[in-house]
Amino acid sequence: MLDMELNKLLLNRVECPACLDYMVLKIYVCKTGHSVCQNCYGSLRECPVCRTELTRTRNYDLESIAELLSYPCTNEGCPEFIPVPKTKSHMLKCKYQLVNCVLGKCVWKGFKTDLKNHALAAHENLAWMQEESLDRWRFEIDEKSEVQLIRAFDEIFYIHRHYIGNNEPCRSIMYWVVQYIGNPEMATKFGYTIRIVGEDCSNFPEISMNQICVDDTVTFMDSLNNGKCIGVPVALMKTFRNKYNSVWFKVSIKELK
Ligand SMILES: [Zn+2]
Ligand SMILES: [Zn+2]
Ligand SMILES: [Zn+2]
Ligand SMILES: [Zn+2]
Repeated sequence: MLDMELNKLLLNRVECPACLDYMVLKIYVCKTGHSVCQNCYGSLRECPVCRTELTRTRNYDLESIAELLSYPCTNEGCPEFIPVPKTKSHMLKCKYQLVNCVLGKCVWKGFKTDLKNHALAAHENLAWMQEESLDRWRFEIDEKSEVQLIRAFDEIFYIHRHYIGNNEPCRSIMYWVVQYIGNPEMATKFGYTIRIVGEDCSNFPEISMNQICVDDTVTFMDSLNNGKCIGVPVALMKTFRNKYNSVWFKVSIKELK
């Protein structure tokens, strides 16, 4: 790790003269010897400093110095300088990462560390769910996506329920994904169970499926595409329908040891 003062001094030297971003990876030079970043190289016709032609020659020495440096985090307010190989892991846990709230039509955007307080304060109506909660799906009325908030083990989780319809009921699927809100490394410490139960909550018949939570950096659609979800054919769910056209299901969060 370089001394911070030296690091800052060298950072000035790897600033692209055209876009003022730091030049990491491919750095190209003009005929005179000025450097530009690869983005600018692709869009500029001439050197932004001396107006001579840009060449296809790379500045390998400067590239190798750039690789050794630590760069300021791009999240506004974050004081950290991060070496290139650690950028991804820092971004996953950076406290200054801005996130959107996905509950209802909420437009809140803020630091990830404030999301929990926001969600519990602004969405008390949705935050009613606890460790194990009973919810219902009403056929024909709720054939859409829904996100709920569940509180368990002093943590918060989004429960995504998403209906993908098809003309044939056996090809229509109801999906669930439970997303842990917080440090992504903690997500796999939690799992969940979805149980579809009959009207009287007796356990025969019953559908019960367990899955591991995903972290909140994974988009909902990616979770579905990667199979990090639970899916039940709607035809099967229909057999649990009561006279009010509702199906009851239980969601419970478990701490995995
Ligand atoms: Zn540039
Ligand atoms: Zn030049
Ligand atoms: Zn940061
Ligand atoms: Zn919100």
